[in-house]
Amino acid sequence: MATSTKRDYYEVLGVERSVSADELKKAYRKLAVKYHPDKNPGDKAAEEKFKELGEAYEALSDPQKRAAYDQYGHAAFDPRARAGGGRGGGGFHDPNDIFRSAFGGQGDLGSIFEQFFGGAGGGEDSEPGGHTRGADLRYDMEITLEEAVAGTEKQITVNKPATCDHCSGSGAEKGSKRIKCIQCAGRGRVVMSRGIFSIQQTCPRCEGAGEIVEKPCKVCGGDGRVNKPSTITLRIPGGVDNGTRLRSTGNGEAGQRGGTAGDLYVVLHVKEHDLFKRDGDDLLCEVPIAFTQAALGAEVDVPTLNGKAHIRIPAGTQSGTTFRLKGRGVKNIQGYGTGDLLAKVVVEVPHKLDSAQRAKLEEFARLCDPSVNPRSKGFLDRAKDFFS
Ligand SMILES: [Zn+2]
Ligand SMILES: [Zn+2]
Repeated sequence: MATSTKRDYYEVLGVERSVSADELKKAYRKLAVKYHPDKNPGDKAAEEKFKELGEAYEALSDPQKRAAYDQYGHAAFDPRARAGGGRGGGGFHDPNDIFRSAFGGQGDLGSIFEQFFGGAGGGEDSEPGGHTRGADLRYDMEITLEEAVAGTEKQITVNKPATCDHCSGSGAEKGSKRIKCIQCAGRGRVVMSRGIFSIQQTCPRCEGAGEIVEKPCKVCGGDGRVNKPSTITLRIPGGVDNGTRLRSTGNGEAGQRGGTAGDLYVVLHVKEHDLFKRDGDDLLCEVPIAFTQAALGAEVDVPTLNGKAHIRIPAGTQSGTTFRLKGRGVKNIQGYGTGDLLAKVVVEVPHKLDSAQRAKLEEFARLCDPSVNPRSKGFLDRAKDFFS
């Protein structure tokens, strides 16, 4: 709408320029009732008039804006005349709208960190018809390695805005219909003044929807949602790893006034295992063996996530030697086979010897020359020059 074609605000409201605030209000009320869309269904002219009235009243009911209007006329509210200009109308959100806090009262949930994703980035997702998509939530979950490998099902309870049962999410009391918002006349935005500058804000009454319900739901106050604990069953597939993020579609916050629900993102934290470490799809396990077993060879039991396995330690096995048990690791989450179990033997030296053991070892030591210990032999050969 070009500025020059706009009617004078005082003329729109049918009042003198010297009108008092009270008289202005009365004049507005009378005309707003007369041109209200509910009284004039389908009448475009009345609708335009109603909008015009809302805009005029909005400007003149605010003393600062009225003073600006008296001085500059419509130019006082023209976005193109504003400092820094060049902005058309529309799409302007109050940045404060974006930073809404999550829901309160989470103290009892301890380990759960629910928060909005991407709140500061894009603002809220408005859907047609004044619905607002629910925010996505994050849930941090600790699982065991066994659960990560085999997969599991978990039930969690999240306290979050959920669809109000009383109004089925519509926000309207039974038999109540949706009407155009009185505060913004259906535009979803209102103009707030800062001195002679004006800023468009999301309408606080309808939160940008442009519509409000005639009688808001008694339970949710018109939001269509209530904070309540929701129990959600999560199926965790086998093969997930530390940091895996799973999306549970539609289990985030319910949308406002029947909008689409957000998603729940579950971030997995795999607890440290007593025996196994994970390396991709392989499992690593340290197996302590006696130095006599290493020297003489032995059959030893190795734990796996599904029962015992055996490895044959050949005579003369060195500490740190790794044995690969094919297919005893983690089944790949995308179906690319199964990892291995890598059993690393660690040779232990006895830390207490009784006299009989000691005597035998001393006898054994006398029988040995360095060539029986391959590393020691190599080391002595290389170090010879330093010792002489
Ligand atoms: Zn409700
Ligand atoms: Zn509104």
